[in-house]
Amino acid sequence: GYAILNSEIINRSEAKVDIEDRGYQFGDGVYEVIRVYNGKMFTGKEHMDRFIKSSESIGIKLPFSAENIMNMLDELVEKNNLKLGIIYMQITRGAAPRNHAFPVGDVTPCITAYTKEMPIPEANLQQGVKTILTEDIRWLRCDIKSLNLLGNILAKQKAAENGCYEAIQHRGQDITEGSSSNVFIVKNGVVITHESNNLILKGITKDVILRVCEEKQIPVEERTFTLEELAQADEVFLSSTTSEVTPIVVIDDKKVGDGVPGPVTRQLQELFKKEIEKQCGN
Ligand code: PLP
Repeated sequence: GYAILNSEIINRSEAKVDIEDRGYQFGDGVYEVIRVYNGKMFTGKEHMDRFIKSSESIGIKLPFSAENIMNMLDELVEKNNLKLGIIYMQITRGAAPRNHAFPVGDVTPCITAYTKEMPIPEANLQQGVKTILTEDIRWLRCDIKSLNLLGNILAKQKAAENGCYEAIQHRGQDITEGSSSNVFIVKNGVVITHESNNLILKGITKDVILRVCEEKQIPVEERTFTLEELAQADEVFLSSTTSEVTPIVVIDDKKVGDGVPGPVTRQLQELFKKEIEKQCGN
């Protein structure tokens, strides 16, 4: 297959970066994962906007225009003949002699992207997934989609070791988000999810869900909720680019409600599917 390295689309096997690239040494960069359905990007513009926002927030200036990058991504999808999968894209501050402070002078940022086939996770969407709780040990700028993912990795590994799909993180009593997803609860018909501040990533999927809730007049509260509220919830689900709207049916070995996906979660799955069809066809 093909990959993007800076301004070029080249053979995946020829896409190499320097050992002193700051992404490799420091995790000094940001990334995006974009879903492709029917060979078309879903919410591509939203992902590109967040990519720019993340890079600007750490002082990396994109070497190309957003439009330019989007066109290259379209070309990459086409060249790789990707119908159903993802684009992974990242930018680092570039290669320079190792020193924590930003390199002085003109160091060119390094952009890479590649595609991967990925099916829709039908079984998880139908049956729901198991999760565990874990303390959120990450930094205080979780709004930046940083390459530094150690906190997320350790949380996800704990989930994997416990036979679970995801780890739900909490700061003290407050639920923040999953290790690679946003978390929602439903209580008495109200959809509740953490407000988009510095403690979580503002998920593109989350925003699509909030928009369809508004359109269908499903009540939403974007606010912090607690471990206690999570334990008392009627329904719980998670959202992400790759997981879409995935029901959570078990938390720390305890069933959520009756242990099966609830009606509001089902409705949001349907509405989300319609959004995909609107943008990408079926
Ligand atoms: N929160 C974290 C920590 C994530 O890594 C992700 C995505 O992988 C999300 C939330 C969901 O974001 P999105 O819906 O934009 O994929």
